[in-house]
Amino acid sequence: MYDITAIRNDFPILGREVYKRPLVYLDNGATTQKPRQVVDAMVDEYYNVNANVHRGVHFLSQQATDLHEQSRETVRRFINAQSTSEIIFTRGTTESINLLAFSFGEAFVKAGDEILVTEMEHHSNIVPWQMLCERKGAVLKVVPISDDGTLRMDEYRRLLSDRTRLVCCTHVSNVLGTVNPVKEIVEIAHSNGTLVLIDGAQSTPHFAVDMQDLDCDFFAFSGHKIYAPTGVGVLYGKEEWLDKLPPYQGGGEMIQKVTFEHTTYNALPYKFEAGTPDYVATHALAAALDYVSSLGMDNIFAHEQDLTRYALEQLSQIEGMRIFGPMDGRDAVISFLVGDIHHLDMGTLLDRLGIAVRTGHHCADPLMSRLGITGTVRASFGLYNTREEVDALVAGVERVRGMF
Ligand code: PLP
Repeated sequence: MYDITAIRNDFPILGREVYKRPLVYLDNGATTQKPRQVVDAMVDEYYNVNANVHRGVHFLSQQATDLHEQSRETVRRFINAQSTSEIIFTRGTTESINLLAFSFGEAFVKAGDEILVTEMEHHSNIVPWQMLCERKGAVLKVVPISDDGTLRMDEYRRLLSDRTRLVCCTHVSNVLGTVNPVKEIVEIAHSNGTLVLIDGAQSTPHFAVDMQDLDCDFFAFSGHKIYAPTGVGVLYGKEEWLDKLPPYQGGGEMIQKVTFEHTTYNALPYKFEAGTPDYVATHALAAALDYVSSLGMDNIFAHEQDLTRYALEQLSQIEGMRIFGPMDGRDAVISFLVGDIHHLDMGTLLDRLGIAVRTGHHCADPLMSRLGITGTVRASFGLYNTREEVDALVAGVERVRGMF
């Protein structure tokens, strides 16, 4: 039973008004709101436990360490990784990808090698690879998309070569909502001897992910997009590969023994976690994952799919409506434009009606160029949105259209 009223009551912010209208929050692709359970976990830790982790013999430090390490186990279970050694805490997807680009690049990429990305990547899964290619004299190759917003799998197969070291692909496009066939992408890459990073920023909040089933070599996601605080995220990597990669940053935690002549590094995952981690945020991330797990990822998926289908149906009836991305097999993200109304105008006027959407290029400039536009309006749904909120969006868009 998906009790939407009870769920909404867990998120105090959903009860507030903006411009004297009830808030309709449809910007979940950018960040999600936080339930009491997550905020309470943070408050509880600061009020009752707070101490630096790993280094202390005293009670609080051990308790904080236990919470931090239990959180790692919660993440492991949530994504079905084999071991907690494969769970590296980072600041978010962006840092996870930068970590990998540096460490993987140091270990495995040399001049003339190729990194394969797709045309629908977020900047955070393009720029770190571009920087790596510049550093190493490697080549960035791009898998194009079809006009319907799906990946050109024929081109993917063609572009994979014996120089391709890594395929970097988003699980779900933050603009088009396209759900990429990542399992197939991994199988094809592996049969070519190539490793794969999946950007899970837009998939983990919406449906269950399973590292052992996907068989990807690396996977990144952000806490704040899955109802956890900002400033925490995860890089998953298969132990066999993480073991072979050099550290990303130097400092405390990541070392075994330091002398001025030579330093040896800590075991996984600590080798990649220099400095004091945000242990309060990791604890709150675990609270968020427990929260969504208690609702059931399959139930969340079903609820959001219903909203997405309903919104697609309703929005497509608006005159001049142009929806980007596939109509089927898409996640809870809808990017659109209406007639020649500028996305910024649409977003600003919807805001005045209390409806929070995102406008602009959504950190996907190359995709905007491919679509021949400068930006879109994007509505993205979370587990607490309702059909009534979709109705408010549709009525709002109609009203704005009428003004132009
Ligand atoms: N990848 C995708 C597909 C995203 O949608 C985002 C954020 O919008 C990111 C990566 C970057 O996430 P963060 O800013 O949390 O590091």
